[in-house]
Amino acid sequence: VAISEFDLIRDYFSTRQQDRADVSLGIGDDAALLQPPPGMALAVSTDTLVDGVHFDRHCTPYDLGWKAAAVNLSDLAACGAEPAWVTLSLTLPEADDAWLSAFSDGLFALLSCHDVQLVGGDTCRGPLAVTLQAHGFIPAGQALLRSGARPGDDLYASGPLGLAGLALWSRQRGIELEQPSASAVFQALDRPEPRVELGQRLRGLATSTIDISDGLLADLGHICSASGVGAVIDTDSLPPSAAFSACTRPLIDNGSLSTGDMLALQLTAGDDYQLCFTAPAAARESLADLGVQRIGRIDDRRGDIRCVDGQGRAHSVTTAGYDHFASQTDL
Ligand code: ADP
Ligand code: MG
Repeated sequence: VAISEFDLIRDYFSTRQQDRADVSLGIGDDAALLQPPPGMALAVSTDTLVDGVHFDRHCTPYDLGWKAAAVNLSDLAACGAEPAWVTLSLTLPEADDAWLSAFSDGLFALLSCHDVQLVGGDTCRGPLAVTLQAHGFIPAGQALLRSGARPGDDLYASGPLGLAGLALWSRQRGIELEQPSASAVFQALDRPEPRVELGQRLRGLATSTIDISDGLLADLGHICSASGVGAVIDTDSLPPSAAFSACTRPLIDNGSLSTGDMLALQLTAGDDYQLCFTAPAAARESLADLGVQRIGRIDDRRGDIRCVDGQGRAHSVTTAGYDHFASQTDL
């Protein structure tokens, strides 16, 4: 049954709010009225998910709602912001109650985890696409940028990489992963957890930060070019994941994956939404409590990223992550 745009906004979006004190006026008028705290800079970021480009028929509406919120909060996390508000632009081919209900459940599930309020948006008919804009606060002058890495800094990853890539790889080929670890691997792809609290804890410690959406090599590449530095990744130090190991072991044994493929997944597959950051050696002690892993160091070989294992052997990994305007390679 088709529902009106007005009913749709009321039923699925405007009545399901957080009730933040800094929202003077939320959904329903021509503009929202918002009150950032004094002394805070406003961090603003936007991200779009397009049907057939960023997700496919395997993505449930619940996961899509969750993920649209997660990718935007991840961008705020990467600059050290505390998220507060989002707006939602929704383009739908049709107004389907079951779809909208599941989508808004997923969206609000993640937003409420972080006390974020949906304060407005736009709804129109067309090919399925979801755009969120996220707003957050950072104490003035404390934002984490891509440009602050210096030669000699340590390089870190906030958690395991390659899980979402492995999930996508197996789904696209119809290859089953072994349970119970498969659940954790698919969770990484379908319900990523943006590192919102960690991003804020990195203020004053990290010299540069980025969230890993397109793969470690590609996103670290952005830090290196913005900072005018190079990096060496110690491939034996990549954060371990029991689920990733348990799922890849049988695939390596039966020849569907090589150890090189496994490394390529960790280095180049996107969608894990961990943080990659740099920090001086003096910050090691403070960072030790945060569960992050040191994976290499920054040097002065401008724009050059090398991958070296514990024995000092260099690994060349060819694809530098997912690029929308380059042809998609196999791994
Ligand atoms: P207008 O035509 O004046 O732009 P709309 O009919 O587009 O108004 O929107 C009415 C109200 O509903 C506005 O406050 C707008 O921010 C909000 N809104 C519209 N679509 C969404 C959505 N998908 N999610 C949240 N709020 C929405
Ligand atoms: Mg409008």
